[in-house]
Amino acid sequence: ARKFFVGGNFKMNGTIESIKSIVKNLNDAQLDPNVEVVIAPPALYLLLVREHLKNGIQVAAQNVFDKPNGAYTGEISVAQLKDSGINWSILGHSERRTILKESDEVVASKTKVATEGGVSVIWCCGESLEEREAGETIPVIEKQLAAVAAKIDNWKNVVIAYEPIWAIGTGKVASVEQAQEVHAAIRKWLKANVSEAVAAETRILYGGSVNAKNCKQLAKEEDIDGFLVGGASLKPEFVEIINSNL
Ligand code: 13P
Repeated sequence: ARKFFVGGNFKMNGTIESIKSIVKNLNDAQLDPNVEVVIAPPALYLLLVREHLKNGIQVAAQNVFDKPNGAYTGEISVAQLKDSGINWSILGHSERRTILKESDEVVASKTKVATEGGVSVIWCCGESLEEREAGETIPVIEKQLAAVAAKIDNWKNVVIAYEPIWAIGTGKVASVEQAQEVHAAIRKWLKANVSEAVAAETRILYGGSVNAKNCKQLAKEEDIDGFLVGGASLKPEFVEIINSNL
């Protein structure tokens, strides 16, 4: 069985004070022991969060660079994350794909370097509203999957997050049917193009306007193995999302 997984993507939000209070709230909460929880604060706060977190919660960077070291101003390497005890990263988020212009190939290269360097990856994919309305959702996601599958062999350290761009930060959550349909298509693609074992074992998260109200219904779906939460991960209701199955 796939262990339920809930990620919190803080994006470029928070202060020392507010992030300490989120950590305290998580440390004091009763969390479902059957859920793997990973939170991703801005890079500047990774060590602070790692030092204060309890309850077995893990910490993720929101990005990595795909070179080992050197003259890359502003970037952070996989080895530096490992050195700091940070064992997860989010890669391929739509905000990095669109605003920072990361291509499928760049995302795939970063995913390869991270997984080979021992940093597990929450790998994100998803379609825009135009692509959905043009009926291109599944082909767009298959193209994103093909780029990463061409570069990596080890899927054990990869969690997939399906995040339709039109649902991110909009309050417009995908319907249970829309999410399940894409999750099932991702699993089918993995079975046909990677292996039956990878298809069966890889967690597929849903992300996009997940909150305490809509999480329980989504969590019941066969192919929804957890969530990647943005805005609500900064609020106390994140605990209710972690505990969706209770
Ligand atoms: P929201 O939960 O704020 O819609 O963000 C989703 C997301 O992008 C998580 O990575």
